[in-house]
Amino acid sequence: MTRRIDLRSDTVTLPTAAMRAAMTAADVGDDVYGEDPTVNRLEGEVASLFGKAAAVYVATGTQSNLIGLMAHCERGDEYIVGQLAHTYKYEGGGAAVLGSIQPQPIDNEADGTLDLDRVVAAIKPAGDAHFARTRLLALENTIGGRVLPLDYLARAESVARARGLAMHLDGARVFNAAVKLAVPVKRIADHFDTVSICLSKGLGAPMGSVLVGPTPLIERARRWRKVLGGGMRQVGLMAAAGRHALAHHVERLADDHANARRLAERLAQIDGIAVDPAKVQTNMVYATFPADVHAALKADLQRSGIVLPAGPVMRLVTHLDITTADVDQVADAIAAWMRHRAAAPARVAA
Ligand SMILES: *Cc1c(COP(=O)(O)O)cnc(C)c1O
Repeated sequence: MTRRIDLRSDTVTLPTAAMRAAMTAADVGDDVYGEDPTVNRLEGEVASLFGKAAAVYVATGTQSNLIGLMAHCERGDEYIVGQLAHTYKYEGGGAAVLGSIQPQPIDNEADGTLDLDRVVAAIKPAGDAHFARTRLLALENTIGGRVLPLDYLARAESVARARGLAMHLDGARVFNAAVKLAVPVKRIADHFDTVSICLSKGLGAPMGSVLVGPTPLIERARRWRKVLGGGMRQVGLMAAAGRHALAHHVERLADDHANARRLAERLAQIDGIAVDPAKVQTNMVYATFPADVHAALKADLQRSGIVLPAGPVMRLVTHLDITTADVDQVADAIAAWMRHRAAAPARVAA
């Protein structure tokens, strides 16, 4: 079987041989009793990496964000969040559905930030029964592959704190942001009470997320994890994959960023494709293909093992299982396909 080159997401990575070996060797116990030594080690390591007192290991980033929001907010409370934020747009409305928490979405700016004047304007007056109680500002970093600047985080934090709001970060790809900024993740996490991280994206573990924060919030979150059916047993098998990823797959995210930039530069040279390599900050490339070709291109390349995302605006994501040679192979295949199409534009299937 030809190896697939799958650019749809950094979630498609397969566990490496070394990761599988670490999983096989893991010490395990019942984590609901707090007795899984590998989960306990992972939680301790992630907490200290982020400069927080406590951490809780969960199945998914969706669950991590949800229990984080539910730890901060009660029924009838509100969180301020970007229109494009995963927590708001791509998690089934969980905070509202399961937490009775009202979202107050705000348009994201082109760089992924939220305009802080708009944030302030959205905060409801306290002590008036007409309004939900605004409790929390939730940001996402990276967002659409873009890194939120550190000085923006500082400003957002001071705006929120001055008005009594807590801060949550959806840091599914916060390691990409930290590697790009060349700072420890703690520098980013310092601006937030709670941070949710994904081990199953660029870090390459088969599953798992961690929520970090102060002990009282994490204990509330841990209770919500159980309530939501997320208490797991000998899950150190999976936590071992996460520990391995943190030890071996963080610094190499720089390779993914370089590969994404290279892919954008190669695609920018192909007639008919609109992409700006200067906009590529981490591991995501947004490339716009002619509306009449993207579906046929995707179907044809799939036959040679290249898996592209849907849509005329393709989000192409580099990751652990994409090499520089893969990037060149994909760019060559797309260039050849587009040349062929230009030579026979009106060809109809026989
Ligand atoms: C993937 C992702 C999540 C959710 O993670 P799952 O493990 O897929 O539930 C949350 N936020 C962002 C920004 C993500 O990319």
